[in-house]
Amino acid sequence: MVVSIHRPTKAIIDLKAIKENVENEVARLPKATDLFAVVKANGYGHGAIETATAALEGGASGFCVATVDEGIELREAGFSEPILVLGIVSVADIGLLSYYNLSFPVSTNEWLQEAAAFLQKNPVTNPLKVHLKVDTGMGRIGFISNEELLSAVKWLQEQSLFTWEGVFTHFATADQADDTYWQEQNQRFQTALACLPELPRYVHAGNSATALWHAEAVGNMVRYGIAMYGLNPSGTALPETYPLKPALSLVSELVQVKLLEKGAGIGYGETYITPQAEWIGTVPIGYADGWLRKMQGFSLLVAGEYCEIVGRVCMDQLMIRLPRSFPAGTKVTLIGEDNGQCITMQKVAEQLETIHYEVACTLSARVPREYK
Ligand code: PLP
Repeated sequence: MVVSIHRPTKAIIDLKAIKENVENEVARLPKATDLFAVVKANGYGHGAIETATAALEGGASGFCVATVDEGIELREAGFSEPILVLGIVSVADIGLLSYYNLSFPVSTNEWLQEAAAFLQKNPVTNPLKVHLKVDTGMGRIGFISNEELLSAVKWLQEQSLFTWEGVFTHFATADQADDTYWQEQNQRFQTALACLPELPRYVHAGNSATALWHAEAVGNMVRYGIAMYGLNPSGTALPETYPLKPALSLVSELVQVKLLEKGAGIGYGETYITPQAEWIGTVPIGYADGWLRKMQGFSLLVAGEYCEIVGRVCMDQLMIRLPRSFPAGTKVTLIGEDNGQCITMQKVAEQLETIHYEVACTLSARVPREYK
């Protein structure tokens, strides 16, 4: 998708905010605990390379990505710090993992056996860095039985094809006020660790929510994602441990303003009919940009005043009801602050009945990212 720079719609990313969020977390962590910045999915929509750079400046010492390709993107941009791929990798990509020095998770002994067979025919030069994943209750990836985990460890210790670099788990409810299930998962992880003859370089259990609200249980590395972008992992369920600075704002401009007579239909399906003569403004953003149809009825800031989206959101444009005439070119804020008012990503998420993670990731590649 081509980035549409010839229209006034853009996401503005405050890299200083990302740096500060990381700095604040690093300052809270015990000295021997690393912070890996999670920059998967294009840095949660904020831009992988730029946010990775800001995170390094803030004190991150490594990165997490979701896919091999995302790891390669960072290496090709020149990052030399440790990079952990979080998703299951294919045995067929072992050559890439070695060449690009990407650490990766292993969840089954079968994977290790297949990899060993593959390596006999396709030897690699750099060591393959394995993080054993323990499924303590997320039900996604990871060893379920401690016996199997232990046999993977023993196997890894006996051969030289792989370096056993880490062991980790992922919590399903670290962002909830009720920590019963979190405690169960943590107990299972502690039991799994206790079965092991030794521990590897990295033992890690913390996403942002764990780091913020269960700091005692993160191990010696934190996988810091959403909070680095300034968003409260819990939405509104738990208070922020320290103020997080949202990094992304989304802005556009009015491209046309017109006075419509009473009874005029607005947008596809004529779902809004002006109840009286009304000023209607058109904003060049739509669902192809990630501003979804469910945003109908939400209010945007026009020069700091709230104005409701009326009629259906189109693919590339939407219409808002204005209290009076505004000149074309007037600033419209979809996410962020204007004149003392603020639309948070959390508010957008509530309108969409989702989480702000999804709002950030849904902003499409068509929207230019401008960095300040
Ligand atoms: N660790 C793993 C395994 C993840 O899947 C994720 C995100 O999905 C993270 C860490 C980062 O989580 P958060 O963005 O909540 O900090």
